[in-house]
Amino acid sequence: MAESKARVPAIEGWFRMDGSAPCLLGVRCRACGTVYFPRESFCRNPGCGHGELEETQLSRRGRLWSWTDNRYAPPPPFVAKQPFEPYTIAAVELGAEKMVVLGQVASGVDASAFRVGQEMELVLDALFEDDTNEYVIWKWRPVAA
Ligand SMILES: [Zn+2]
Repeated sequence: MAESKARVPAIEGWFRMDGSAPCLLGVRCRACGTVYFPRESFCRNPGCGHGELEETQLSRRGRLWSWTDNRYAPPPPFVAKQPFEPYTIAAVELGAEKMVVLGQVASGVDASAFRVGQEMELVLDALFEDDTNEYVIWKWRPVAA
């Protein structure tokens, strides 16, 4: 019954819109190699202080660092599905960068079996939708055993 809606990024430029191999997009300092996500406009490393930043694709996998349930709708500008449905937020340490990146856990994943250190992967999933578009964001899910 539902017509297919256009899938568009909920935030432009923060991740690659590639359903088969999505990844977060950050920047890397050409001088010292420091990686930033979200993007920075200059290198914040006090020992560097210069260096051009270039776009870089971040690890698609990482280790589960922690997680929690969110049972209340966050305030605007966050846009929640209506009616609000509780969801789980995971903090995942990216494999190569060792940065911890927060994200919702993908729809339909049961977090009751989560354990610290388990391998997680990034997926694209709906954040919300309107009459014409489905707005997509990155989410985390366990790597299938
Ligand atoms: Zn630098």
